[in-house]
Order: sequence, then C-alpha cells, then structure tokens
Amino acid sequence: MKGIHYLLVVATLAVAASIVSAYDPSPLQDFCVAIDDPKKALFVNGKFCKNPKLVKPEDFFFSGLNMAGDTTNPVGSNVTTVNVDTLPGLNTLGVSLVRIDYAPYGQNPPHTHPRASEILVVVEGTLYVGFVTSNQADGKNLLFTKILNKGDVFVFPIGLIHFQLNIGKTPAVAFAGLSSQNPGVITIANAVFGATPPINPYLLARAFRLDKNVVLNLQKQFWSSN
Ligand code: MN
Repeated sequence: MKGIHYLLVVATLAVAASIVSAYDPSPLQDFCVAIDDPKKALFVNGKFCKNPKLVKPEDFFFSGLNMAGDTTNPVGSNVTTVNVDTLPGLNTLGVSLVRIDYAPYGQNPPHTHPRASEILVVVEGTLYVGFVTSNQADGKNLLFTKILNKGDVFVFPIGLIHFQLNIGKTPAVAFAGLSSQNPGVITIANAVFGATPPINPYLLARAFRLDKNVVLNLQKQFWSSN
C-alpha cells in the first residue's frame, strides 16, 4: 500500500508540475515554423507547423530592429514587436523580442504581459522603470523601481503591471526579451477606460472613486496602443 501511495504522490506532483509550466509548451522537435495554410502543414502544436522540408532560413529571420519607431503619439513611445506573427520560426520556442523607442519624456504606460516575464536592456538614454506586486496579505501593492542608464538591465516578472518613463531630454532606446512567443499586452488605461463596448461608468466611478463625469470624459478619449 505504501508503494501505491508513493506512486500517487509522484503522479500528482508530475501533473502539478506540468500545470505550473503550462505557459508556452516546451518544444517537441527542433522547430515548428508557424504556417496558416493547412495544406502545407504537417504537425499541430498550438499553431500548424510548416513541413520541415519546406522550411527556409528566412523563417527564422527578422530585419529592421535597427530602425527607430515613430513616437509621435499621446504616450511618446513606440514598441516594435518580433513575435510568432512576424517571425514564424518562434512558434513553440517560448521567446520573443521587442524594441522600444521613447521620445524625450515619453513613456511606455502601465501594462502587463499575461503570458511572459520581460528582461529589458537600455541601449540609449535614461529610463525610470518599475513594477507593482499583486495584492499582498496586508492589502498593499509594493512598487519596485530603478533608474536605468545605458547598459543597465531590469526584469519585470510575469503578469505584473510595469512601466518605463524616459527622464532624459534626448530620445531613449531599449530592447527586451519576453518569455513567450506571444506574450500579449494589456495596457491598463486602455483596457479599463477604452474597452469596446465601454464598461458601465457607474461601476468604474465607484471602483476608481471618481466622479461619473470624469469617467465619462475618460471613456470619450481615443485610446490607442503604442
Ligand atoms: Mn512590457
């Protein structure tokens, strides 16, 4: 009987471990280049995989991250994304990359990636960066911040709300790796005040302790992502 109990515990732990790591799957083969045409596909693993015999070096290639993004928008930043949609060879590999450009005093507003941690390196300029923890037992949400200069690295843990602000008079540039082929982005202000259709303004007024007219005014804004 003890042996059976031991096996049950091991089996339960194995199932728990597979649930804990259930973000992007571990690769089941060398690569699985994403493809939309099922006629050219062989295996299914999240997306279709391109027939390996048809795979080319270009499937693993992206060009253009030397180019600055256009930061002339309300938040003064631009994110250029290299994920499975723009680099199909990333399919099943659990990584992706972004370049972020910041106008002077521009920001990447508070947002979260539901499926990825993010490790960021500054290559130009000076950024004030930070993230906020989930709700703690004492009711607090702790803020962790740092000022980053060229060459400095900071990590934003998976799922937590984070931001960057260019505190310099000159443009800033950062690159970041994310632990998902498709990290997803939830820009907090856009999701809350720019939802389609709008969230009930009475609900938002009470949740944010704002006058309903302030909420209605916020909901009238044009919310665009950077
Ligand atoms: Mn981010």
